[in-house]
Amino acid sequence: MALTIVWFRRDLRLADNPALAAAIGRGQPILPLYVLDETPGLRRPGAASLWWLNKSLATLAGDLEALGSRLILRRGIAADIVEALAAETGAACVTWNAVFDPGYPERDARLAQDLKAGGVEPRRFNGGHLVNLETVRTKTGGPFSVFTPFWRTARQMVADTGPAPAPAPATLPAPTAWPTSDALADWKLHPTTPDWSQGFSAWQPGEAGAQGALDRFIATGLPTYATDRDRPAVEGTSRLSPHLHFGEISPKACWRAALAAAHHGGASDSEVEKFLAELGWRDFNAAITRNRDGADLAQMNFNPTFDAFPWREAPGELAAWQGGVTGYPIVDAGLRQLWATGWMHNRVRMVVASFLTKHLLLDWRHGEAWFWDTLVDADHASNAGGWQWVAGSGADAAPYFRIFNPVIQSQKFDPPGDYIRRWVPELARLPAKLIHAPWGATGQELARAGVRLGHTYPAPMVDHAFARQRALDAYAEMRSRSGNPIDPLLAATD
Ligand code: FAD
Repeated sequence: MALTIVWFRRDLRLADNPALAAAIGRGQPILPLYVLDETPGLRRPGAASLWWLNKSLATLAGDLEALGSRLILRRGIAADIVEALAAETGAACVTWNAVFDPGYPERDARLAQDLKAGGVEPRRFNGGHLVNLETVRTKTGGPFSVFTPFWRTARQMVADTGPAPAPAPATLPAPTAWPTSDALADWKLHPTTPDWSQGFSAWQPGEAGAQGALDRFIATGLPTYATDRDRPAVEGTSRLSPHLHFGEISPKACWRAALAAAHHGGASDSEVEKFLAELGWRDFNAAITRNRDGADLAQMNFNPTFDAFPWREAPGELAAWQGGVTGYPIVDAGLRQLWATGWMHNRVRMVVASFLTKHLLLDWRHGEAWFWDTLVDADHASNAGGWQWVAGSGADAAPYFRIFNPVIQSQKFDPPGDYIRRWVPELARLPAKLIHAPWGATGQELARAGVRLGHTYPAPMVDHAFARQRALDAYAEMRSRSGNPIDPLLAATD
């Protein structure tokens, strides 16, 4: 009997997986496949993502085995592998869920044509986003480049979305013979020399871990989400981002769970709407990526005026930023949280990104690349979107001249300094009023807390007032190069 190949990509789950549900609907044996894609020109995952992928694939393989099935693993140029496997097994159909990163839609379209030419039916689904990104359009039929109208339209489309998602199947029909598979361990995705992943142990990659994170968040985080989401010392956000990136849970399942909580009085409408809008930002970033016709927004400014921006090159300063030794406690705490756990709180992502692009005047692409390698939730669209949003060059971006003061941000969002104490332990004994800016403490106060600036903890690598003026000057230079000088009255800080 002919079989159906389900090509798992960024949808490492069994529940609410349209490509899998469609394959089951065909009533044929199912061959689950994952390819470690080495297609030239497609971006390879960073090291932290590979750590996650390793565990997520092991979990998916175990979940499939419990259904009487298997996960076939292959490595190489994905289109060639899918075509060859279809021929080898006599498959009648290949199903997959769309990925919109640069190069994917074009590659997938070519593969679909080739499969069709070979008598194999290709079927593509939307399993990764709340809405079909290709159909969210302005009244004149174009793509959106501003979040609020995008979300107004997309939110209505999700609200209109029909039946409840398919649950995980209880069993999967297996082929009579299984093709060969790589051994996951042979891919060596787990870091060894050194193994830097000890601090990643709180994560539980895989579908069960994703559902657990959602349940926890709905019970404890959602009721106070709108306020606590900005406090990095508090577990006020869902930490679903790596699960969503790898598709271990569908955004629609998160959507439905949040609305159900509102319905049962578990959270107010405003908290729920705030959470849904953040899921909306994920779709917005993906739609921006999708609509750029293959242009890589991890490389190109969305706003080409920024092509004239006079970025500095300072490898030593970049290394200090990466290593979390800038001398600004909130910045260092964020970068150390990232290195230790593979994740950083959103508020602090904005602060460290602003520090890199404005205080140090280093190109946002350096920061994007660092996050790409170190984040377990590294996501092409959201990472490039986040960096360009902060740098001012992105779609619906924060204006460049809005320069975060890292001390004020720290005092506002981590008033007791708990987040800093957790990640910058050498400052832990400083009282709350000094911990955000230890250079303002007297020698006696520092000595009492066991801090020696420049020895146990660095002095600030750049003065805030100087850096702010330098950034505004650079911005003005860019504007004058592009024939649109800056209005100094617009310059603001927060
Ligand atoms: P929650 O607050 O619980 O939000 C729920 C979900 O909504 C998240 O899991 C995420 O999928 C989505 N979401 C929330 N905020 C945003 C946002 N601003 N943009 C897009 N989606 C959002 N997010 C990534 O998933 N991958 C990245 O590589 C990434 N890089 C970023 C880089 C920078 C410089 C900045 C400023 C933000 C970046 N973000 C990225 C967005 C955001 O920081 C994370 O999605 C969020 O911190 C994840 O934590 P959470 O799951 O607890 O979020």
